[in-house]
Amino acid sequence: MRPFKYQSAATVKDAVGAVSKSEGSKFIAGGTNLVDLMKEDVERPAALIDVSRIDLKQVRSEGDSVVIGAMAKNTDTANHPLVRMNFPLLSQAIFAGASAQIRNMATNGGNLMQRTRCVYFYDTSMPCNKRERGSGCGAKEGLNRMHAIFGWSDECVAVHPSDMCVALAALDAVVKVEGPEGKTRDVPFSAFHRLPGDDPTRDNELKNGELITSITIPKNKFAGNSYYLKVRDRASYAFALVSVAAALELDGEKIKDVRIALGGVAHKPWRARKAEDYLRGKAPKTEEFEKAAKLELADARALEHNAFKVPLAERAIVRALRQASQ
Ligand SMILES: Cc1cc2nc3c(=O)[nH]c(=O)nc-3n(C[C@H](O)[C@H](O)[C@H](O)COP(=O)(O)OP(=O)(O)OC[C@H]3O[C@@H](n4cnc5c(N)ncnc54)[C@H](O)[C@@H]3O)c2cc1C
Ligand code: SF4
Repeated sequence: MRPFKYQSAATVKDAVGAVSKSEGSKFIAGGTNLVDLMKEDVERPAALIDVSRIDLKQVRSEGDSVVIGAMAKNTDTANHPLVRMNFPLLSQAIFAGASAQIRNMATNGGNLMQRTRCVYFYDTSMPCNKRERGSGCGAKEGLNRMHAIFGWSDECVAVHPSDMCVALAALDAVVKVEGPEGKTRDVPFSAFHRLPGDDPTRDNELKNGELITSITIPKNKFAGNSYYLKVRDRASYAFALVSVAAALELDGEKIKDVRIALGGVAHKPWRARKAEDYLRGKAPKTEEFEKAAKLELADARALEHNAFKVPLAERAIVRALRQASQ
């Protein structure tokens, strides 16, 4: 690991000021992703600005929404009564990720910002356009079993690794960020992460120096009928091959509203909008879930080693919706 400076920030203003003024500075929160990347020489920050002590750890009700602090730990968020009661889908998704020890350290802001687990990204002896623009993509013609089936480009076929973010995408969360000179903005979750396009170095729309301060989730009527399904190689310490966050609002024998987001399939959490549009107004029956899943997967483009993800995602959508409807 290369030498770096370290500074602990007490306020958002201090943290944003420090990172925006000094080239090569980065925020650090729980450190569960960034420190690994520094050890592998993938990230080389000149200075780390520790944001974990900033007082943004609360989970609170605000009007028709629940606001979760960016510095709250993943475990505390998943266990919080407001989250468990209003968004069990989010609790399930957080608990499906990593291990108890990592969730105890990891923060919500850090979870949104964690980087891909593509093995070529971690291996500095291999080409990777995300690490070094223009160097090539080792995965596209290489070992791409874990990689994307939606929205990839010739430049990058990586997937976003988070479980929490899949639930937040389904729940239409909004990310609050603060930048230099106290400028704040609200970014809808669907616009926060990005597809790789011709610049995979950028995972999301955050600008230099902007700090995530909180995540707002509008209250909804999905709490009674939601389910997070994660399909993975091992029961713990494994990222999703495919995951599904499914939520239904039922009105008698009809689906009044539905949300479906997929993990492990794209560079960002993938909202299955075609499946959602098909299901509104239909009966919550397996045959309808199957038709919706087929419609969504019709646009999938598999790579050499991940064609299995297409039928897997189809079946996972059906299973998650069946669980959610019960
Ligand atoms: C072995 C292992 C297994 C894992 N398995 C899973 C899994 O199955 N599912 C899953 O979802 N995750 C998994 N993770 C990832 C884990 O959830 C993330 O490492 C964690 O959420 C990152 O949070 P952190 O606070 O530690 O971030 P850090 O490592 O401190 O930071 C990560 C990045 O976020 C930036 N950052 C941090 N806070 C902010 C902020 N408030 N605003 C702007 N930028 C910020 C940092 O600059 C850095 O670039 C795993 C991790 C490990 C090590
Ligand atoms: S898929 Fe993306 S992260 Fe992986 S090697 Fe290719 S460019 Fe790098």
